[in-house]
Amino acid sequence: MPLTTPAPGPSSSARVAAAVRHAVGTGLLGEGRPVAGFIDTDGVRASVAALHDAFTDTPATVLHTFAAKAASLVPVLRLLADCGMGCEVASPGELRLALDAGFAPSTIVLDSPAKTRNEIRQALALGVALNADGLDEVRRIASLRPRSSVSVIGLRINPQVGGGSISAMSTATPTSKFGVALHDPGARESVVRAFSEHSWLTRLHAHVGSQGCSLDLIATGVAETYRLAEEINETLGARQVTSIDLGGGLPVNFEDDSVRPTFSAYVAALRAAAPGLFDGRYGLVTEFGRSLLAKNGFIGALVEYTKDAGSRRIALTHAGAQIATRTVFMPDSWPLRVGAFDAEGRPKDGPPLVQDIAGPCCFAGDVVAHARELPELREGDFVVLYDTGAYYFSTPWSYNSLPRPAVYGFSTTGAGSDSSGEETVRFAPVRDAQSLESIAEESGAGHADSLLGIGPHHTE
Ligand SMILES: *Cc1c(COP(=O)(O)O)cnc(C)c1O
Repeated sequence: MPLTTPAPGPSSSARVAAAVRHAVGTGLLGEGRPVAGFIDTDGVRASVAALHDAFTDTPATVLHTFAAKAASLVPVLRLLADCGMGCEVASPGELRLALDAGFAPSTIVLDSPAKTRNEIRQALALGVALNADGLDEVRRIASLRPRSSVSVIGLRINPQVGGGSISAMSTATPTSKFGVALHDPGARESVVRAFSEHSWLTRLHAHVGSQGCSLDLIATGVAETYRLAEEINETLGARQVTSIDLGGGLPVNFEDDSVRPTFSAYVAALRAAAPGLFDGRYGLVTEFGRSLLAKNGFIGALVEYTKDAGSRRIALTHAGAQIATRTVFMPDSWPLRVGAFDAEGRPKDGPPLVQDIAGPCCFAGDVVAHARELPELREGDFVVLYDTGAYYFSTPWSYNSLPRPAVYGFSTTGAGSDSSGEETVRFAPVRDAQSLESIAEESGAGHADSLLGIGPHHTE
């Protein structure tokens, strides 16, 4: 599969600046299109290449899958497939998107804590890998699995190594809903027994957590999983566990442009915690989402008005809780860098002024950045929310019946220069902005009269 690393080019913030300028110049951002998401395809290719490079020293066979929920957009998934990735999915919808994007079933992994019998049947028929979330699910799979199924089947464990700084993102706490809680009384024995009863159970899976979990915590959880694999194989006297799914969860630095921790630091931390993991006896699977996409995307939004309230300046923009939901509701856990751009899409400078960057939703808390020092914003300017390439475009919120914003991909490397000598940017559509027809339809417009036809005034 093609695995091209883009030529070293301008820094990611320089690419963002070029993209904003061209998006405003070509009308992708402006009065009629006041908010949109953008994905840097050169950056995505470079991040995937960095992930592959980090593992090249190991003799182990590695399948790198992308966690679909981080950017569940078919063209983005297809780009990742083209970079040689597989796909981690957790619902029938995500499975459908992965298949539409062209991932081979053998490169798809299905994780979800509530798989229905039908979902299990479908995955087994397709040959998609499944990680059972518990021993009850192992029993269900045993009863549904056709002998001819080529699906790799694993068991998710919770190594209970503790949480990170964001509790909602921590999956390895003692009471997490995910996996088999390994340190609970009798759990280890039950897991070993399940493997001895089912020779098709050949993989262990652990996803220790997402943003807020340190490299150390992830490495400790993976090392526990590795030790369990060794114990199962020793007890059974056979190499039944042949692969380990390491999950994802590498945290992302949202403070500046630098990528830290890197995928190489991740591999180094795992190697230190579990040296045998990389010696080639186990196949490895990764499931990164945020660390591949976050720094390769941004949101651009028009400043519709500014006002003063109390002694605070407020910029009212079109990017709020409908696209930056987590940031609005948990501002301390999910702070974002904001950039100020003028009406032509050029970076603004000027003395810093403390401003709130608010969104368009009708509730007072709809603020994406509180008391931020930025050059003074005015009507017609634009703001950029950096590092929003993961999760922000795939988890919109339809509050106030606001439309899902359009998403565009862009490349600066293939684009060349225009007559003024400035670098040009090429855009491609990823998702259209949601239309009013679509909003009406998902709001029940097709059933408009239905409530009039039941109840006391009902006439046959
Ligand atoms: C969400 C999730 C991931 C991806 O997490 P990131 O923090 O985006 O890397 C991987 N595996 C599982 C099982 C998940 O639920």
